[in-house]
Amino acid sequence: MGDQRGCGQGTKDCSREKISKTIFQKIIDRELPAEIVYEDEEIICIKDKFPQAKVHLLLITKKCIPSIHDLEESEYPLMVKILKMVKVLAKKFEIEDNYRIVINRGSGAGQTIFHLHVHLLAGGAHK
Ligand code: 5GP
Repeated sequence: MGDQRGCGQGTKDCSREKISKTIFQKIIDRELPAEIVYEDEEIICIKDKFPQAKVHLLLITKKCIPSIHDLEESEYPLMVKILKMVKVLAKKFEIEDNYRIVINRGSGAGQTIFHLHVHLLAGGAHK
């Protein structure tokens, strides 16, 4: 049965489980449009569709891990990579002096898409 951490509504491997794809998985698979600002084999960064600040980016793991709490030790390098990209993108968007990163875990904390992502926010209201 494999590793089931409940990504979306089903298994963690949304790319193969069509019924349980998250919105982000659909964006990764080009089934939904998004403004992509960075992409490699492990992560994708898009502009938030409903920005809470002047700059509001989402850095998303391509592997469909439901939340930060579900991250396994072997997957920690993904977060390191995301944090490195935060720095690169903060520079690119000229927000390096003032920005916030937010990771929501659980619906009670505001998580609405159960596919690991980091918000990068700068300018204006904060999430
Ligand atoms: P969460 O609330 O799970 O921490 O963050 C999910 C984020 O995804 C929200 O900030 C929301 O505005 C954003 N979002 C929801 N649907 C879409 C979409 O279809 N496209 C993009 N680019 N962002 C989305």
